Amino acid sequence: MHLVDLAERVRDGSLSAVGLAERALARAAARADLGAVLEPGRERALEAARRVDDKRARGERLGRLAGVPIAIKDALCTRGVTTTAGSKILEGWVPPYDAHVVERLEAEDAVVCLKTNMDELAMGSSNENSAYGLVKNPWDTARAPGGSSGGSAAAVAARLVVGALGSDTGGSVRQPAAFTGVVGVKPTYGRVSRFGLIAFASSLDQVGPMATDVRGAARLLAAIAGHDPRDSTSLDAPVDDYEAACERPMQNTRVGVPAEYFGDGLDADVRASVERALARLVEAGATLVPIELPHTRHAVATYYVVATAEASSNLSRFDGVRYGQRRTRGRGTLADMYGATRDVGFGREVKRRILLGTFVLSAGYYDAYYGKAQAVRALVRRDFERAFERVDVIASPTAPTAAFALGEKTHDPLAMYLGDVYTLPASLAGLPALSVPVEPTPSGLPVGLQLVGPRLGEPALFTVAAACERAAGQRDRLAPHAEAGPWT
Ligand code: GLN
Repeated sequence: MHLVDLAERVRDGSLSAVGLAERALARAAARADLGAVLEPGRERALEAARRVDDKRARGERLGRLAGVPIAIKDALCTRGVTTTAGSKILEGWVPPYDAHVVERLEAEDAVVCLKTNMDELAMGSSNENSAYGLVKNPWDTARAPGGSSGGSAAAVAARLVVGALGSDTGGSVRQPAAFTGVVGVKPTYGRVSRFGLIAFASSLDQVGPMATDVRGAARLLAAIAGHDPRDSTSLDAPVDDYEAACERPMQNTRVGVPAEYFGDGLDADVRASVERALARLVEAGATLVPIELPHTRHAVATYYVVATAEASSNLSRFDGVRYGQRRTRGRGTLADMYGATRDVGFGREVKRRILLGTFVLSAGYYDAYYGKAQAVRALVRRDFERAFERVDVIASPTAPTAAFALGEKTHDPLAMYLGDVYTLPASLAGLPALSVPVEPTPSGLPVGLQLVGPRLGEPALFTVAAACERAAGQRDRLAPHAEAGPWT
């Protein structure tokens, strides 16, 4: 059962919120082997679920996410529930407030449970960078679930829950969604408030939903989107009806197909699956339009300059004094921060990025690297603006390969970074993008189709993604969770 059905069943009283929360917690415990969950947040979840059931018992109308258990990435602050963002630097930190999106979920009567594992401070593409152990892909536990929201993706793929939140700075919702066969959405920059999201790169970070189906993702996004004065980059624009967009016919939709996203490095099986999905979109009434996004080849370099620069600035607050358990233990030396003396500071990837970010911002190199990256970022944005004069959405693979093996890229950061090539451009341009599962590879691994839209063009993404989902039908819906049983 998908998210919308669950909410409707809680609303009509045929399912209880407490029952669903217990179910999610039990399923998470039964799949502890995946490493997807850092903190179940049991007390808080059951309390919230009881509130929802009581509200219904009193005859009050329940919200759009009535009683639905939602897993959230551990980069999102939860009052009273440990939040570490996968980092030792925040070990034991209990936030005194909720992230905006957590408030929004609860305002719609969702039950926030399961804080999910992630690459440390959202840096990574495989979920092997968490200080609390890696996450396994439920489709094949020898493979990575993608990252950095791999815990949320694995939780949805294994049906611990049917909906989750991740955060996407350069692909961290879309790529793990693709690797685990779920729907993942990165909204337009500013569409969802970043208040209470532990920052990685502030000009790129967006919170986004993951779900077992397109409509579930649409409902989740509708719940969390909207203006928040606590985030100065939050957009004050009305929130569209994303669920209605899922029902809209796709006739005459112009789908741009960028040559640059189908070149060298694209796995043959992924290509075949994506091309079949495009053919089905044509059968459903879309028109394919070949387009060019010529600055795509600079996106990886540009992103890794901009993102590391912003990260080096954002992470300076974690000086070992103000957050985490070290404060109470009275530590807080520079050596602690960088983990030079014991295993308490930042991990290798985070240190690498702080070094890189500090370097590109340093007086002697600022123009050559950071200044140049900002200029190229503008060119990437312009590529998209030109393309959207001719097309409604842009379609491509979400990632150049299906899920790779755990350990395959851990010793080659550059190879890891290159795998982000298709998700980074939309992030640099601040555009909405979505990954929807298409036909798996012949060896049975999920493949994602990425759709990118113009600014605030989320409705078109949902229309095309829903058409894709309908075209794929049940035939493509092999899943690794069959033995765990259906949700109800
Ligand atoms: N994989 C990219 C990185 O490592 C993107 C991460 C993200 O979106 N948070 O930076």
